[in-house]
Amino acid sequence: MLSRNLQDAINAQVNAEFWSAYLYLSMSADAEAKGFKGVSNWFYVQFREEQDHARILMNYILARGGRVELAPIAAVKTSWGNQLEAFEETLVHERKVTALINNLYDLAIAEKDHATSSMLKWFIDEQVEEEENAASIIESLKQVEGNKLGLYMIDKELAARTYTQAAPLAGKE
Ligand code: MG
Repeated sequence: MLSRNLQDAINAQVNAEFWSAYLYLSMSADAEAKGFKGVSNWFYVQFREEQDHARILMNYILARGGRVELAPIAAVKTSWGNQLEAFEETLVHERKVTALINNLYDLAIAEKDHATSSMLKWFIDEQVEEEENAASIIESLKQVEGNKLGLYMIDKELAARTYTQAAPLAGKE
């Protein structure tokens, strides 16, 4: 059985993951409206991945006999100055999420809830990837700053990203 404290903290993380999904969906719509179909695709895949993250946490709460409590999702921005700005904000946001996951892990350790610590390890690894992905796209965008053809090529590259269901959800949905 999950402690009330941990259940509340994991429910808060479910909300944070849905907020991330909402943020990336908004970035996807903004990029599409401005003609960047590849960037739009990249953020749409990100939107789907964030929903997976929320679902993993919800499944975990239920598996431990807890209650999922969905809270309202706060509003997100609707427009970014340019594509580099959107990815810079993505990196800043993912660093915040990493801190949230680390805090959750610290709480699980403090409560000696080994099952929760174990479940969170997937998220800890996932955050390394999230930060690395955003940082590497920022690097590419900075290299072509002011060069329209370069930006076009990066947009083409980002169009190739495809969604893959998160491993912890395999066989569970
Ligand atoms: Mg996430």
